[in-house]
Amino acid sequence: MIPVFDGHNDFLQRAVASGPAVWLNGDGTGHLDLPRARAGGLVGGFFAIWIPAPMNPNDAAAVALMENPPYAMPLPEEIPFHAALPHAFAQATALKALERTGTLDIVTSARGLRETVAAGRIAAIMHMEGAEAIPDMDALHLWHAAGLRSLGPVWSRPTAYAEGVPFAFPSTPDTGAGLTDAGKTLVRECNSLRIMLDLSHLNEAGFNDVAALSDAPLVASHSCVHAISESSRNLTDRQLQVIADSGGLVGLNFASSFLRPDGRRLPLEGFDTMLRHLDHLLAIMGEDGVALGSDFDGALMPRDLPDAAALPALIGAMQDHGYGEPLIRKIASENWITLLERTWGE
Ligand code: ZN
Repeated sequence: MIPVFDGHNDFLQRAVASGPAVWLNGDGTGHLDLPRARAGGLVGGFFAIWIPAPMNPNDAAAVALMENPPYAMPLPEEIPFHAALPHAFAQATALKALERTGTLDIVTSARGLRETVAAGRIAAIMHMEGAEAIPDMDALHLWHAAGLRSLGPVWSRPTAYAEGVPFAFPSTPDTGAGLTDAGKTLVRECNSLRIMLDLSHLNEAGFNDVAALSDAPLVASHSCVHAISESSRNLTDRQLQVIADSGGLVGLNFASSFLRPDGRRLPLEGFDTMLRHLDHLLAIMGEDGVALGSDFDGALMPRDLPDAAALPALIGAMQDHGYGEPLIRKIASENWITLLERTWGE
């Protein structure tokens, strides 16, 4: 089986709600748990800490909007630090509890990642999607000490550091202001700590500011191609070229609403559209710049890729499409691991 290392999941909210049992045994819901990871060849990925939003794309009201584009969801309110911190602590603690089951390691180096995979355990990167729980750079250092190695300055809402792109279709990603002064400090401090910066969810002005400032390869962990699906969350060809020029990487999001050319939040059917996105990414990014970023447990999956156990079907579609095994292995896991080596330094 071809191993898969994945750029984004939202499993930790389920772990907070249900404890490690939902990881070890599954509960018949969601897209990810240990049995389905094993069945699908998933060897690891980025586990996101994310502060719940009053209006998020999986709520009924948002779903009704997103099923029938055009739509433009309002930009949610900023969440204050004191409201965010308990959620962030609960999710980080839930990830630590998964580690205590002996089936998963929180990895902080590329070498450690490879060792964990070789030992047959799941390699989990502690990622934060939105920096609401980081009020200052002292807190960033403490989160780093706790294992944080990847940070998105924003989810699709404002923080003290930048502004996320609200969900809209059709829309460009150019929806608001760029990095604040605090955001520029955050980028420099992440560079010095070698915390990977994730550009998914940033608006175009913030993207440009990070691109101008950061000395690390640029990464969008779970995004798709705007030239195919005109979602505000997708990357324009210009943005893809900027990431490519930095030696960076894009993880293809499996979210149906970001893949479908009509933008509808309805299950995508078949693999042809995903392969169009991958072909487009490969044409701009090259073979070393394309990876996967499922958004398991955070988005509406394609009909034929309903959960982690179905990953071999995506691999099979790549084979049928004519991708050779070396390229498939790069997209499925090796590009993420070498990107992390370049970013983390070991
Ligand atoms: Zn996301």
